[in-house]
Amino acid sequence: MQTAIYPGSFDPVTNGHIDVIERALRLFDKVVVAVGDNPGKKPAFTKDERTEMLKESTKHLKNVEIDYFSGLLLDFVKSKESSIIIRGLRAVSDFEFEFQRALMNRVVENDIETVFIMTKENYVYLNSSIVKEMAMFNGNVNGLVPDIVVKKLKEKISKT
Ligand code: ADP
Repeated sequence: MQTAIYPGSFDPVTNGHIDVIERALRLFDKVVVAVGDNPGKKPAFTKDERTEMLKESTKHLKNVEIDYFSGLLLDFVKSKESSIIIRGLRAVSDFEFEFQRALMNRVVENDIETVFIMTKENYVYLNSSIVKEMAMFNGNVNGLVPDIVVKKLKEKISKT
């Protein structure tokens, strides 16, 4: 039984993330999506909101667990008895950062492997920040994010 961990901020989850999860399920028996806080980013949605949106948008998939972590990712991976980290790759711009992070993790924990999954071409340009920006100015984000996220973005914007 091979479990892979897919960590990220998921603020909010996009169809690009869902595509990566679906592809990861073809390679591994189980995928644990781990919601964390990126110290460099101030989240728009709370961890609970992000977790809830992920749960709702992956309920059509078997063998997916949604969890969150706050400490070191490597400790979380070990606590799930896994040795695989999944990250998505979009454009070359992701590469430098992801490469550095993957190698740093390997320096600390040689047994943990990072596996990169390329997204579907339709989602190459897609990230959570663009989605939030579009939604803030009433842009149409249908088709870019799961329906629950469209709804939650509308609620969030109407409150601000
Ligand atoms: P982080 O703040 O950790 O980068 P994100 O939620 O922004 O978290 O992204 C989590 C992971 O998903 C990262 O590996 C990122 O490259 C990947 N990712 C984000 N958007 C897409 C997308 N549209 N297609 C493929 N991978 C993506």
